[in-house]
This record gives sequence, C-alpha cells and structure tokens, in this order.
Amino acid sequence: MQKREQLYKGKAKSVYLTDDADRLVIHYRNDTSAFDGQRIEQLDRKGEVNNKFSAFIMQKLEAAGVPTHFETLLSKDESLVKRLEMIPVECVVRNIAAGSLCKRLGVQEGMDLNPPTFEFFLKNDALHDPMVNEYHIRSFGWADDAAIARMKELSFKVNDVLIKLFRDAGMLLVDYKLEFGRFHGQILLGDEFSPDGCRLWDVETRKKLDKDRFRQGLGGVVEAYEEVAHRLGVEL
Ligand code: C5P
Repeated sequence: MQKREQLYKGKAKSVYLTDDADRLVIHYRNDTSAFDGQRIEQLDRKGEVNNKFSAFIMQKLEAAGVPTHFETLLSKDESLVKRLEMIPVECVVRNIAAGSLCKRLGVQEGMDLNPPTFEFFLKNDALHDPMVNEYHIRSFGWADDAAIARMKELSFKVNDVLIKLFRDAGMLLVDYKLEFGRFHGQILLGDEFSPDGCRLWDVETRKKLDKDRFRQGLGGVVEAYEEVAHRLGVEL
C-alpha cells in the first residue's frame, strides 16, 4: 500500500489517498482547535496519543459488533482506514449534561441524563455546526430513513460498550460525537474516537480528562489524554 497525495486537511487530521481506491491514510497532527477553528495550538504528542487511542477504541467497538473504518496502525501518528463517503452530520450521545446542552437548555453541568439523549448537528464550521433534526437530514438528502436509524442504533451500541469500558477504568463517559459514512452500501463508523471528541471525567473527583481542558484553559491537556490511555491499557 503506497501513500499518495493529500486528499483533505482537517483541523486535526490530514487524509491521504493510497494506491487502493478503497483505502486512505489518516495522519493525526498535533494541532488542537476549539471554537470552530478560531483557536488553534500545537500540543506535543497529541497526534500520536489520539492515533493510538482511536485505534484501540475502534478495535474494541469492532469486536463488540460496531463496524468501523479502522484497518491498522501504520506508524505512531498514522492509520490505514477504509475510504467512506461521509454523511455530513455529527451524532452526539450524552449521558451527563455538559457543554452546549447546558448553554442551550440552561441545565446544570453534571446532571445525569436518564435515558441518555441524542442530537444531530450539521458538520459546517462556517455555520458553527448547527443542530439539525431528522426532517432536515431527509429533506436535504444527507441520509435516508434507513441510514438515520442505523446511525442512531450504532451510536447507542457504542454507548453500551464504552460506558462500561471507561467505567471499569474509573471514568465517566459524559458525552461524545461520532461520524458515519458509507462503504459499498454499508454504514460504518468513521472519523476518530479520542478525548478530542468526547468528555471523560474521573469517577471520584469528576476531574475533566478531555478536550474541555483545552477549551477552558485548564492546562495539562495531553497529560490528561495520556492518563486516560494509561488507565485503559492503551500502549503509547
Ligand atoms: O459542544 P457540545 O457539548 O455539543 O459537544 C458534545 C460532544 O461532542 C463533546 O464531547 C465534544 O467534544 C464533541 N464534539 C466534537 N466536535 C464537534 C462538536 C462536539 O467532537 N464539532
């Protein structure tokens, strides 16, 4: 498998074509962004930690029956994945109130959400990723009923697997964002799963161990990601 030209440069990852039309290389960079890319900093080792972290989680999910794009680690900060046709919506599952939910609905951070809640957002930085509903998704042709149902089903299956995985390592899975895409007619989990795209709190102290440390200027961002990885047994 030969890595070829860059296909796309995102805020934290770059994507490269390969000589296999169905495979891409993802390069995890150290760039860390917040507020729709308005603030960007370089954080040493973050690319490497997120690459290995996401590979670990994707393999756990695959083993539990969630189909993902992940194929193999290629280097410390690169992975080989299946090339998906991405569905341009973000799927967010929330177990505990935090972030934009608190701002939008005026609820207290830390409130348990039972049952967990689910939201769709349009992936569009210029519009600040607005919340959308299933009618929008159908009307604009981003996904049909079957794809919407499958994204929700897989998002909640991920919750069942990961709540337990993190809980056993002393952490609360507060919320997370997933992105899906199509591969030869099948819906697969794409993008990444790392502390950049989820909220994780220590179960005892509720210390934040995720990207909120960056967003809120709490410091020790990559150190927290490494602690999460260490607790899960991810080899860094
Ligand atoms: O900001 P908000 O509270 O809606 O975020 C919910 C979850 O989705 C958080 O874990 C956040 O890190 C993640 N997210 C993301 N990328 C976005 C928006 C949210 O990874 N563009």
